[in-house]
Amino acid sequence: MEKEIVVQKFGGSSVANIDRIKNVAQRVVAYKNKHTDLAVVVSALGDTTDELEALALQLSKTPPEREMDMLLSTGEQISCALLAIAIKELGYDSISFTGSQVGIKTDKSHTKARIITIDGKRIKKAFKDDKIVIVAGYQGVTRNDEITTLGRGGSDLTAVALAQALKARVCEIYTDVDGIYTTDPRIVKEARKIKSITFEEMLEMASLGAQVMQARSIEVAKRFNIPLHVRSSFSKEEGTMIVKENEKMEEVAVRGITCNKNEAKITICSVPDKPGIAAKIFEEISKQDINVDTIVQNVPHDKLSDISFTVLKGDLHKAIKAASVIGSKIGAGEILEDKNIARVSLVGSGMRSHSGIAARMFSTLADNQINIGMISTSEISVSCIISQDVADKAVKALHKAFKLEQP
Ligand code: ADP
Ligand code: ASP
Ligand code: MG
Repeated sequence: MEKEIVVQKFGGSSVANIDRIKNVAQRVVAYKNKHTDLAVVVSALGDTTDELEALALQLSKTPPEREMDMLLSTGEQISCALLAIAIKELGYDSISFTGSQVGIKTDKSHTKARIITIDGKRIKKAFKDDKIVIVAGYQGVTRNDEITTLGRGGSDLTAVALAQALKARVCEIYTDVDGIYTTDPRIVKEARKIKSITFEEMLEMASLGAQVMQARSIEVAKRFNIPLHVRSSFSKEEGTMIVKENEKMEEVAVRGITCNKNEAKITICSVPDKPGIAAKIFEEISKQDINVDTIVQNVPHDKLSDISFTVLKGDLHKAIKAASVIGSKIGAGEILEDKNIARVSLVGSGMRSHSGIAARMFSTLADNQINIGMISTSEISVSCIISQDVADKAVKALHKAFKLEQP
């Protein structure tokens, strides 16, 4: 009988200390049987990645990205070895591998590398020997043997990509919440667990800042139709299934609310109002490999206008530099930055057929005296950029206004 393959991923909080690693080892061996091969992806222990990054930032404001990958990838190397040791101690055979050892080949884009192929030969060989395989998440290697990382939260991507490469029956994502909620349960205690959500909605929520899944991992799951089960590593309860569109699943107008405090706003003041200027500005920014989100251009006064846009806080330094270079070339004025912003978004595929969602969002914020700085929309979301100080208040008010606590 052909053995089935299951991929499981345990996040940083699930392996934050020795007792938790022992808990994960127990869960893994309880799943293992002679008909099932397990590939287990782990994140770094607790906040290790943040701590390693902070060390480098004490030495340089802009550490070289290649060296950051050398540094940050060590976090997962520690956790995968510790988990293999813990599993062996329970009497099961196990072996840990780095991303490079299992042939996770990526492009050269350090700190946000893209996976090109996974050969997985060593995993299959270990399965033949009936070993439980532990893989360090979040990392790969280029064709020239340079270590890369896959962007923050990248262990989710390792798990999904491995599930595809190994043709796994299921990919389980174990974390510190028991599923995907209508909003971050740390912000709204009435948030409700969602039983099943589509790839499309989850991708939108993740892209707009729902930390629970890395957006790129959902992109891959969607492309290859790999159903994901997001569940708690501390309980046996069923979690949330992330699946392809399902006819029976009724489209709700608002499925969830997200809040992203990781962006910053840059304003280039007094930009000459001429054709081609916006193209020049954003070409310069994109040359630096910086993703720009919401862009707003004010109505011109005296043939000058202000252009504001948001970038990830991690890219702020680079973006300010690029904006200053292009600003002086085109004869623009001051460059301003604002880190005290948050993006609050409503997401739901039913927005295509329900009207009035944006209006209700704006009036709820107005009723709570919350000023909207920027607005952007997609087919299935509406986002407002507001002050970070009132972001949690906004999420709570919107959750209530759209009655998301009710099933
Ligand atoms: P892991 O370390 O397991 O990868 P993360 O910290 O990356 O876990 O993600 C889990 C956290 O995501 C939860 O603790 C929760 O606070 C947060 N979160 C944000 N939005 C949501 C949501 N809609 N549903 C569930 N959790 C969410
Ligand atoms: N350890 C990495 C991070 O904190 C990757 C991950 O946990 O998924 O972003
Ligand atoms: Mg995560």
